[in-house]
Amino acid sequence: MSALVYNLENLRAWRALTAPIQLAVLGDPVAHSASPPMHMAGLGAANLRHQYGRLHVTPSELSEALQLLPAAGFIGVNLTIPHKTAVLPLLDHIDPKAEILGAVNTVSFSKSGSTGFNTDGPGLENAVKETFERELASMRVLITGAGGGAGRAISLHCALAGCSEINLVNRTAEKAISLAKEIQSIRPDCRVSALTLDSPDLERVTRRSELILQCSSLGMKADDSSPINSTWLQPNHFVYDTIYSARTRLLQDAAKAGARYANGLSMLLHQGALAFEIWFNQSAPLNAMRAALLQAVPAANL
Ligand code: NAP
Repeated sequence: MSALVYNLENLRAWRALTAPIQLAVLGDPVAHSASPPMHMAGLGAANLRHQYGRLHVTPSELSEALQLLPAAGFIGVNLTIPHKTAVLPLLDHIDPKAEILGAVNTVSFSKSGSTGFNTDGPGLENAVKETFERELASMRVLITGAGGGAGRAISLHCALAGCSEINLVNRTAEKAISLAKEIQSIRPDCRVSALTLDSPDLERVTRRSELILQCSSLGMKADDSSPINSTWLQPNHFVYDTIYSARTRLLQDAAKAGARYANGLSMLLHQGALAFEIWFNQSAPLNAMRAALLQAVPAANL
Protein backbone atom coordinates (compact mmCIF):
# COMPACT_ATOMS: atom_id res chain seq x y z
CA MET A 1 0.00 0.00 0.00
CA SER A 2 1.19 3.51 -0.78
CA ALA A 3 1.84 5.61 2.34
CA LEU A 4 1.87 8.72 0.15
CA VAL A 5 -0.31 11.69 0.93
CA TYR A 6 -1.80 13.22 -2.23
CA ASN A 7 -3.06 16.80 -2.54
CA LEU A 8 -5.32 18.96 -4.69
CA GLU A 9 -2.61 19.54 -7.28
CA ASN A 10 -2.29 15.76 -7.70
CA LEU A 11 -6.08 15.50 -7.99
CA ARG A 12 -6.15 18.11 -10.77
CA ALA A 13 -3.74 15.89 -12.77
CA TRP A 14 -5.19 12.60 -11.54
CA ARG A 15 -5.45 10.80 -14.86
CA ALA A 16 -1.68 11.09 -15.23
CA LEU A 17 -1.20 9.02 -12.08
CA THR A 18 -0.91 5.27 -12.42
CA ALA A 19 -2.16 4.09 -9.01
CA PRO A 20 -5.78 2.83 -9.21
CA ILE A 21 -6.82 4.87 -6.17
CA GLN A 22 -10.59 5.26 -6.25
CA LEU A 23 -11.22 5.76 -2.53
CA ALA A 24 -9.58 8.08 -0.01
CA VAL A 25 -9.82 9.89 3.28
CA LEU A 26 -9.84 13.68 2.98
CA GLY A 27 -8.56 15.70 5.93
CA ASP A 28 -6.29 18.44 7.18
CA PRO A 29 -4.13 16.94 8.63
CA VAL A 30 -4.58 13.44 7.21
CA ALA A 31 -1.18 11.70 7.39
CA HIS A 32 -2.06 10.08 10.75
CA SER A 33 -5.28 8.41 9.54
CA ALA A 34 -5.61 4.66 10.16
CA SER A 35 -8.38 4.37 7.54
CA PRO A 36 -6.06 3.51 4.59
CA PRO A 37 -4.56 0.30 6.10
CA MET A 38 -8.01 -0.76 7.37
CA HIS A 39 -9.72 -0.26 4.00
CA MET A 40 -6.83 -1.70 1.98
CA ALA A 41 -7.13 -4.90 4.06
CA GLY A 42 -10.89 -4.96 3.48
CA LEU A 43 -10.54 -4.41 -0.26
CA GLY A 44 -7.91 -7.14 -0.49
CA ALA A 45 -10.00 -9.64 1.49
CA ALA A 46 -13.02 -8.91 -0.73
CA ASN A 47 -10.93 -9.32 -3.92
CA LEU A 48 -11.66 -5.74 -4.98
CA ARG A 49 -8.84 -4.21 -6.97
CA HIS A 50 -9.31 -0.59 -5.86
CA GLN A 51 -6.88 1.26 -3.64
CA TYR A 52 -7.64 3.61 -0.75
CA GLY A 53 -5.36 6.63 -0.26
CA ARG A 54 -4.87 9.79 1.76
CA LEU A 55 -5.77 13.20 0.30
CA HIS A 56 -4.59 16.30 2.11
CA VAL A 57 -7.31 18.84 1.39
CA THR A 58 -7.57 22.19 3.21
CA PRO A 59 -10.95 23.81 3.99
CA SER A 60 -10.62 26.26 1.07
CA GLU A 61 -9.88 23.33 -1.31
CA LEU A 62 -12.78 21.09 -0.29
CA SER A 63 -15.29 22.39 -2.83
CA GLU A 64 -12.95 21.92 -5.82
CA ALA A 65 -11.83 18.51 -4.53
CA LEU A 66 -15.45 17.30 -4.42
CA GLN A 67 -15.98 18.37 -8.02
CA LEU A 68 -12.77 16.70 -9.23
CA LEU A 69 -13.17 13.39 -7.38
CA PRO A 70 -16.00 11.79 -9.44
CA ALA A 71 -14.37 12.91 -12.71
CA ALA A 72 -11.15 11.28 -11.50
CA GLY A 73 -13.03 7.97 -11.16
CA PHE A 74 -13.48 7.94 -7.38
CA ILE A 75 -16.18 5.63 -5.96
CA GLY A 76 -16.35 7.51 -2.67
CA VAL A 77 -14.42 9.15 0.15
CA ASN A 78 -14.31 9.46 3.91
CA LEU A 79 -14.06 12.84 5.57
CA THR A 80 -12.20 13.65 8.75
CA ILE A 81 -11.28 16.81 10.67
CA PRO A 82 -12.14 19.60 9.71
CA HIS A 83 -14.54 18.68 6.87
CA LYS A 84 -17.42 16.70 8.41
CA THR A 85 -19.77 19.68 8.79
CA ALA A 86 -18.36 21.98 6.09
CA VAL A 87 -19.09 19.37 3.40
CA LEU A 88 -22.89 19.42 3.83
CA PRO A 89 -23.70 22.37 1.49
CA LEU A 90 -21.31 20.95 -1.15
CA LEU A 91 -23.19 17.65 -1.62
CA ASP A 92 -25.98 16.82 -4.09
CA HIS A 93 -27.86 14.55 -1.64
CA ILE A 94 -27.66 13.97 2.12
CA ASP A 95 -28.97 10.93 3.95
CA PRO A 96 -31.76 12.17 6.30
CA LYS A 97 -29.99 10.86 9.43
CA ALA A 98 -26.73 12.57 8.48
CA GLU A 99 -28.75 15.75 7.94
CA ILE A 100 -30.09 15.55 11.51
CA LEU A 101 -26.59 14.82 12.88
CA GLY A 102 -25.26 17.78 10.86
CA ALA A 103 -22.13 15.81 9.95
CA VAL A 104 -21.03 13.59 7.06
CA ASN A 105 -18.06 11.22 7.22
CA THR A 106 -18.78 9.11 4.11
CA VAL A 107 -19.56 10.21 0.55
CA SER A 108 -20.49 8.02 -2.39
CA PHE A 109 -20.38 9.18 -6.01
CA SER A 110 -22.88 7.90 -8.57
CA LYS A 111 -24.55 9.06 -11.78
CA SER A 112 -27.03 11.06 -9.69
CA GLY A 113 -24.21 12.95 -7.96
CA SER A 114 -22.62 12.89 -4.52
CA THR A 115 -24.46 11.55 -1.47
CA GLY A 116 -23.34 12.11 2.13
CA PHE A 117 -23.82 9.65 5.00
CA ASN A 118 -22.78 9.53 8.63
CA THR A 119 -21.48 6.12 9.72
CA ASP A 120 -19.86 7.38 12.98
CA GLY A 121 -23.11 7.16 14.98
CA PRO A 122 -24.21 3.74 13.66
CA GLY A 123 -20.57 2.58 13.90
CA LEU A 124 -20.53 3.46 17.59
CA GLU A 125 -23.85 1.64 18.05
CA ASN A 126 -22.47 -1.51 16.38
CA ALA A 127 -19.27 -1.24 18.46
CA VAL A 128 -21.27 -1.08 21.71
CA LYS A 129 -23.35 -4.07 20.61
CA GLU A 130 -20.30 -6.14 19.67
CA THR A 131 -18.16 -5.17 22.67
CA PHE A 132 -20.69 -5.09 25.49
CA GLU A 133 -23.41 -7.32 23.98
CA ARG A 134 -25.95 -4.62 24.75
CA GLU A 135 -28.28 -2.56 22.56
CA LEU A 136 -27.47 1.15 22.70
CA ALA A 137 -31.17 2.00 22.91
CA SER A 138 -31.57 -0.09 26.07
CA MET A 139 -29.12 1.94 28.17
CA ARG A 140 -29.16 5.18 30.15
CA VAL A 141 -26.31 7.08 28.56
CA LEU A 142 -23.84 9.72 29.75
CA ILE A 143 -21.78 11.43 27.03
CA THR A 144 -18.67 13.47 27.86
CA GLY A 145 -17.42 15.92 25.24
CA ALA A 146 -21.00 16.04 23.97
CA GLY A 147 -20.46 19.49 22.45
CA GLY A 148 -17.55 18.43 20.19
CA GLY A 149 -17.93 17.11 16.64
CA ALA A 150 -17.88 13.42 17.57
CA GLY A 151 -19.87 13.92 20.78
CA ARG A 152 -22.62 15.87 19.01
CA ALA A 153 -23.05 13.24 16.30
CA ILE A 154 -23.02 10.40 18.85
CA SER A 155 -25.49 12.19 21.17
CA LEU A 156 -27.93 12.81 18.32
CA HIS A 157 -27.49 9.22 17.15
CA CYS A 158 -28.36 8.01 20.67
CA ALA A 159 -31.55 10.07 20.39
CA LEU A 160 -32.39 8.64 16.95
CA ALA A 161 -31.57 5.10 18.16
CA GLY A 162 -34.19 5.44 20.92
CA CYS A 163 -32.23 5.86 24.18
CA SER A 164 -34.67 6.82 26.94
CA GLU A 165 -32.14 8.89 28.91
CA ILE A 166 -29.25 10.96 27.54
CA ASN A 167 -27.01 12.97 29.89
CA LEU A 168 -24.83 15.47 28.04
CA VAL A 169 -21.58 16.64 29.67
CA ASN A 170 -19.38 19.33 28.16
CA ARG A 171 -16.66 21.70 29.41
CA THR A 172 -18.48 24.59 27.72
CA ALA A 173 -22.03 24.67 29.13
CA GLU A 174 -23.71 26.49 26.20
CA LYS A 175 -22.93 23.70 23.72
CA ALA A 176 -24.46 21.02 25.96
CA ILE A 177 -27.52 23.18 26.65
CA SER A 178 -28.25 23.91 22.98
CA LEU A 179 -27.69 20.24 22.04
CA ALA A 180 -30.10 19.19 24.82
CA LYS A 181 -32.76 21.47 23.29
CA GLU A 182 -32.13 19.99 19.85
CA ILE A 183 -32.47 16.42 21.17
CA GLN A 184 -35.59 17.33 23.12
CA SER A 185 -37.17 18.74 19.94
CA ILE A 186 -36.66 15.50 17.99
CA ARG A 187 -37.33 13.20 21.00
CA PRO A 188 -39.76 14.93 23.39
CA ASP A 189 -40.15 11.61 25.27
CA CYS A 190 -36.41 11.36 26.06
CA ARG A 191 -35.05 12.39 29.48
CA VAL A 192 -32.21 14.79 28.61
CA SER A 193 -29.86 16.70 30.91
CA ALA A 194 -27.00 19.13 30.21
CA LEU A 195 -24.10 19.32 32.67
CA THR A 196 -20.58 20.71 32.87
CA LEU A 197 -17.53 18.86 34.22
CA ASP A 198 -17.83 20.72 37.55
CA SER A 199 -21.59 20.37 37.87
CA PRO A 200 -22.65 19.26 41.40
CA ASP A 201 -25.11 16.82 39.76
CA LEU A 202 -22.42 14.98 37.79
CA GLU A 203 -21.78 12.34 40.48
CA ARG A 204 -25.46 11.42 40.81
CA VAL A 205 -25.99 11.37 37.05
CA THR A 206 -22.85 9.28 36.49
CA ARG A 207 -23.95 6.73 39.08
CA ARG A 208 -27.42 6.29 37.53
CA SER A 209 -26.05 6.06 33.97
CA GLU A 210 -25.28 2.61 32.56
CA LEU A 211 -23.16 3.51 29.53
CA ILE A 212 -20.46 6.19 29.72
CA LEU A 213 -19.44 7.36 26.24
CA GLN A 214 -16.28 9.45 26.42
CA CYS A 215 -16.15 11.69 23.32
CA SER A 216 -13.90 14.58 24.46
CA SER A 217 -10.24 14.96 23.54
CA LEU A 218 -9.33 14.61 27.22
CA GLY A 219 -7.11 11.53 27.47
CA MET A 220 -5.22 11.89 24.21
CA LYS A 221 -2.17 13.26 26.06
CA ALA A 222 -0.38 11.00 28.55
CA ASP A 223 -0.82 13.38 31.51
CA ASP A 224 -4.51 14.19 30.81
CA SER A 225 -6.94 13.72 33.69
CA SER A 226 -10.25 11.84 33.36
CA PRO A 227 -13.51 13.73 32.84
CA ILE A 228 -15.16 11.37 35.38
CA ASN A 229 -14.07 11.06 39.02
CA SER A 230 -12.66 7.54 39.53
CA THR A 231 -14.66 7.00 42.76
CA TRP A 232 -17.95 7.33 40.85
CA LEU A 233 -17.25 4.34 38.60
CA GLN A 234 -19.05 1.10 39.48
CA PRO A 235 -18.82 -2.55 38.38
CA ASN A 236 -22.18 -2.23 36.56
CA HIS A 237 -20.89 0.58 34.31
CA PHE A 238 -20.04 0.08 30.64
CA VAL A 239 -17.30 2.60 29.79
CA TYR A 240 -16.53 3.33 26.14
CA ASP A 241 -13.75 5.83 25.36
CA THR A 242 -13.79 6.92 21.70
CA ILE A 243 -10.03 7.61 21.94
CA TYR A 244 -8.04 4.67 20.58
CA SER A 245 -4.53 6.11 20.39
CA ALA A 246 -3.80 5.84 24.13
CA ARG A 247 -4.93 3.91 27.24
CA THR A 248 -6.76 6.81 28.87
CA ARG A 249 -7.00 7.57 32.58
CA LEU A 250 -10.76 6.90 32.34
CA LEU A 251 -10.18 3.38 31.01
CA GLN A 252 -7.54 2.70 33.67
CA ASP A 253 -10.02 3.85 36.34
CA ALA A 254 -12.80 1.74 34.79
CA ALA A 255 -10.56 -1.35 34.97
CA LYS A 256 -9.79 -0.71 38.66
CA ALA A 257 -13.50 -0.22 39.43
CA GLY A 258 -14.34 -3.59 37.86
CA ALA A 259 -16.43 -1.97 35.11
CA ARG A 260 -16.62 -3.27 31.52
CA TYR A 261 -14.59 -0.99 29.23
CA ALA A 262 -13.35 -0.55 25.66
CA ASN A 263 -11.48 1.97 23.56
CA GLY A 264 -12.62 3.58 20.29
CA LEU A 265 -10.94 1.17 17.90
CA SER A 266 -14.17 -0.78 17.40
CA MET A 267 -16.01 2.44 16.50
CA LEU A 268 -13.34 3.22 13.90
CA LEU A 269 -13.71 -0.33 12.57
CA HIS A 270 -17.50 -0.32 12.39
CA GLN A 271 -17.80 3.16 10.84
CA GLY A 272 -15.33 1.92 8.20
CA ALA A 273 -17.28 -1.29 7.67
CA LEU A 274 -20.52 0.64 7.14
CA ALA A 275 -18.77 2.96 4.65
CA PHE A 276 -17.51 -0.14 2.77
CA GLU A 277 -21.09 -1.44 2.62
CA ILE A 278 -22.35 1.89 1.24
CA TRP A 279 -19.72 1.89 -1.52
CA PHE A 280 -19.91 -1.79 -2.50
CA ASN A 281 -23.36 -2.93 -1.36
CA GLN A 282 -21.84 -6.03 0.23
CA SER A 283 -20.76 -7.03 3.77
CA ALA A 284 -17.39 -5.74 4.87
CA PRO A 285 -14.64 -8.26 5.74
CA LEU A 286 -14.57 -7.23 9.40
CA ASN A 287 -11.85 -9.60 10.58
CA ALA A 288 -9.33 -8.50 7.96
CA MET A 289 -10.10 -4.84 8.64
CA ARG A 290 -9.80 -5.32 12.41
CA ALA A 291 -6.45 -7.13 12.13
CA ALA A 292 -5.06 -4.32 9.94
CA LEU A 293 -6.21 -1.68 12.41
CA LEU A 294 -4.63 -3.47 15.37
CA GLN A 295 -1.37 -3.60 13.45
CA ALA A 296 -1.58 0.07 12.42
CA VAL A 297 -2.50 1.30 15.92
CA PRO A 298 -0.56 -0.89 18.39
CA ALA A 299 -1.60 1.39 21.31
CA ALA A 300 -5.20 0.27 20.75
CA ASN A 301 -4.47 -3.26 21.99
CA LEU A 302 -6.00 -3.22 25.46
P1 NAP B 1 -13.68 18.42 18.76
O1 NAP B 1 -14.79 18.71 17.84
O2 NAP B 1 -12.50 19.33 18.80
O3 NAP B 1 -14.31 18.35 20.25
C1 NAP B 1 -13.50 18.24 21.38
C2 NAP B 1 -14.35 17.99 22.61
O4 NAP B 1 -13.47 17.75 23.71
C3 NAP B 1 -15.23 19.17 23.01
O5 NAP B 1 -16.38 18.68 23.63
C4 NAP B 1 -14.34 19.91 24.01
O6 NAP B 1 -15.07 20.70 24.93
C5 NAP B 1 -13.69 18.75 24.72
N1 NAP B 1 -12.40 19.07 25.31
C6 NAP B 1 -11.26 19.40 24.66
N2 NAP B 1 -10.27 19.63 25.55
C7 NAP B 1 -10.81 19.45 26.77
C8 NAP B 1 -10.29 19.56 28.10
N3 NAP B 1 -9.02 19.88 28.33
N4 NAP B 1 -11.12 19.31 29.12
C9 NAP B 1 -12.40 18.96 28.90
N5 NAP B 1 -12.96 18.85 27.69
C10 NAP B 1 -12.16 19.10 26.62
O7 NAP B 1 -13.06 16.98 18.51
P2 NAP B 1 -13.80 15.66 17.93
O8 NAP B 1 -13.58 15.56 16.48
O9 NAP B 1 -15.20 15.63 18.44
O10 NAP B 1 -12.94 14.50 18.62
C11 NAP B 1 -13.06 14.26 20.00
C12 NAP B 1 -12.54 12.89 20.35
O11 NAP B 1 -13.29 11.88 19.69
C13 NAP B 1 -11.08 12.68 19.97
O12 NAP B 1 -10.41 12.24 21.12
C14 NAP B 1 -11.09 11.59 18.92
O13 NAP B 1 -10.05 10.67 19.11
C15 NAP B 1 -12.42 10.88 19.18
N6 NAP B 1 -12.99 10.30 17.94
C16 NAP B 1 -12.94 8.95 17.78
C17 NAP B 1 -13.48 8.37 16.65
C18 NAP B 1 -13.44 6.88 16.48
O14 NAP B 1 -13.76 6.38 15.39
N7 NAP B 1 -13.11 6.13 17.50
C19 NAP B 1 -14.06 9.17 15.65
C20 NAP B 1 -14.10 10.56 15.85
C21 NAP B 1 -13.54 11.12 17.00
P3 NAP B 1 -15.49 22.21 24.59
O15 NAP B 1 -16.75 22.12 23.79
O16 NAP B 1 -15.69 22.84 25.91
O17 NAP B 1 -14.36 22.83 23.81
